[in-house]
Amino acid sequence: MSDNNRDILDYNRIDDDVTFVKGVGPRRASVLKKHGISTVYDLLLYTPRDYIDRRNITPINQLTPNTKATILAEVESYGMKFIRGGKKMYIVNVTDKIASLELIWFRNVKYFEGLFKEGDLLYISGKTSRTVFPQMVHPEFEFLFKGKEPLHTIGLVPLYPTTAELKKISLDSRGFRKIIKSALNKYIDALPDDLNPRIEKTANLISHKDAISLIHFPKTHKEIASAKRRLAFSELFYVELLLALQKRRNKLLRNGIKFKKAGELVSRLGKYLPFKLTSAQRRVIKDIFKDMNSPRVMRRLLQGDVGSGKTIVAALSCALAVENGYKSAVMVPTEVLAEQHYINFAKLFNRLKIETTLLTKSSRNKNEIYEKLKSDKECIVIGTHALIQEKVDINRLGLIVIDEQHRFGVRQRLDLISQNQRADLLVMTATPIPRSLAMTLYGDFDISIIDEMPPGRKRIKTLLAQEGSEHLIFDKIFDYAKRGEQVYIIYPLVEKSEKIDLRAAVDAYEKLKKTTVGKFGIGLLYGKMDMAEKSEVLDKFNRGEIKILISTTVVEVGIDSPKATLMVIIGAERFGLSQLHQLRGRVGRGESKAECILKLTHPPSDIAKQRIQAMLSSNNGFEIAEFDLKIRGPGEFLGVKQHGFPNFKFADITSDMELLRQARESAFQLISEDPKLELPENQTIKDYLRKRFRGVFRFADTV
Ligand code: ADP
Ligand code: MG
Repeated sequence: MSDNNRDILDYNRIDDDVTFVKGVGPRRASVLKKHGISTVYDLLLYTPRDYIDRRNITPINQLTPNTKATILAEVESYGMKFIRGGKKMYIVNVTDKIASLELIWFRNVKYFEGLFKEGDLLYISGKTSRTVFPQMVHPEFEFLFKGKEPLHTIGLVPLYPTTAELKKISLDSRGFRKIIKSALNKYIDALPDDLNPRIEKTANLISHKDAISLIHFPKTHKEIASAKRRLAFSELFYVELLLALQKRRNKLLRNGIKFKKAGELVSRLGKYLPFKLTSAQRRVIKDIFKDMNSPRVMRRLLQGDVGSGKTIVAALSCALAVENGYKSAVMVPTEVLAEQHYINFAKLFNRLKIETTLLTKSSRNKNEIYEKLKSDKECIVIGTHALIQEKVDINRLGLIVIDEQHRFGVRQRLDLISQNQRADLLVMTATPIPRSLAMTLYGDFDISIIDEMPPGRKRIKTLLAQEGSEHLIFDKIFDYAKRGEQVYIIYPLVEKSEKIDLRAAVDAYEKLKKTTVGKFGIGLLYGKMDMAEKSEVLDKFNRGEIKILISTTVVEVGIDSPKATLMVIIGAERFGLSQLHQLRGRVGRGESKAECILKLTHPPSDIAKQRIQAMLSSNNGFEIAEFDLKIRGPGEFLGVKQHGFPNFKFADITSDMELLRQARESAFQLISEDPKLELPENQTIKDYLRKRFRGVFRFADTV
């Protein structure tokens, strides 16, 4: 039998339809399927939500009223009794040879008839009544037969998630225990390993089989922890393995586009710039061009603090693609930002006679744009998610730039990659991620960092407004606007209290308009406005007709006015640290000095105090990120959801950083030693990868 057949046989067994498990008939199977359990393997991975500790057996004479306990005792007598109103109850007396206990059932009395015999041994778990004589009403019980392990009443007993529909077919915790136990008995030996002994040893892990058994029926809490650790490791290991494979593949992939060395167009664009590139900008452009000039596909992450000048780096990269007759696509998270970028790009590229196009969900002439994108002609398209919709078919796409990556998910990134395998990809983010984390999230990427601000930037003076200082703030706004500078006043807006939040911003707008600063031009901007209204306000702001812009957080990304020098953040205690820093980065982009005033509206929590303190003490994005990581922990810092990090069942990257590091190391080492997973000791991993990830990620097929 060939190797391949053997593997498939192995997997075929645990991928048996769940009806192969004793106790699961067609009816249960169809409900289970609705709950995502189709195969034996799915059932084995149906994990307890919790465990009840029934490890201690209490002697009956030590029972205290009204407490939960587990007892081992023998049946003395049993029988049905009639009670008032023609109702019945069933009573069983049990003894542990020292004392007796009465078990009582009022429901389903019939079920108990003929069930017990004198001398039967029972495990009993339940709550004692508040009576003098020991008594339990509706306890759980199990017969202790030779050779049959008790599942429900003794030990650390698993509790499974269930639903009304599952309960209807008796798949409550008790029901699940039974079918999972029989699945384990029948199939555990057929469970293929998902790692290899060497990795297990290095990472100090128990075996796959043990982990799956112990997660259901552990003897100690320590066993639960080891089982979870093993299962979490595997989850992280395979994500890292996929990244390692993708990275290797990028390196090998020679069917990328080999752009010619930068020529006239790029150099003309360079000449039109009103400033000299910083040396950090030049360095990262060199990195990017080197990637683009090679036949390998580029996957590069560009990190640079807000205001460090990433946009121009993107523009020059787009120019190189266009110069070679290809299209470039720039994807950004919001329509406001798309429009801003579009305006900036159009300004730069119109002079070079290069066409720029904007595609968002509000674009009117969509069909015309789709046609343009389908054509052979080079151009630059800037847009939102609208760019990755199915209808959009971009012909000769040479370069994709994703700006403000922290707003997109890993999923979206992988989508984009798989739709455009040949195109080079540049991902830009202003949320600096500490290196260890960046390596993990962008394991398949090379990283460039802009660690230098354009010259002439002054430190933004950050102040915490004292209580009752409203008039001082007002005077300041007046002074700035009078000097011809621009002011942002930012209000928080969260979905939960959206109406109240918006009210506060609108009220402030109406009120200020009537004061002496009204004559300088005041604008209002918030997310729910339609795009045309937003554009009008932004245009006026860009032209300087509006000096004071009151806004909810929509300016967080993208607005770039060198005249803006004062920012007032109202309710600063409600913003996250990275968000505060992003906001602050909107001012001080020109030559004059800038200020940021933080105004509290509620007494800050301890964490909010730390955030404010960090803002007052640092202007540096990388430092701020480190603070933020410390304050919030990695999970929240990354905004796991935002990053679209895969949904893990066992792993929690908030608390499993060390495990993540180990998993990553193991995975990358494995691929560097045995890139095609050809060694016999890695066969199990190869099988698992093929079996579990085929179709999910295309590149799982490439080993
Ligand atoms: P971000 O990295 O936050 O996207 P931008 O690309 O929006 O930053 O740049 C911020 C501002 O700095 C813009 O007004 C831009 O024109 C300006 N800028 C970029 N590079 C330089 C430079 N080398 N010298 C001076 N100003 C620059
Ligand atoms: Mg930017």
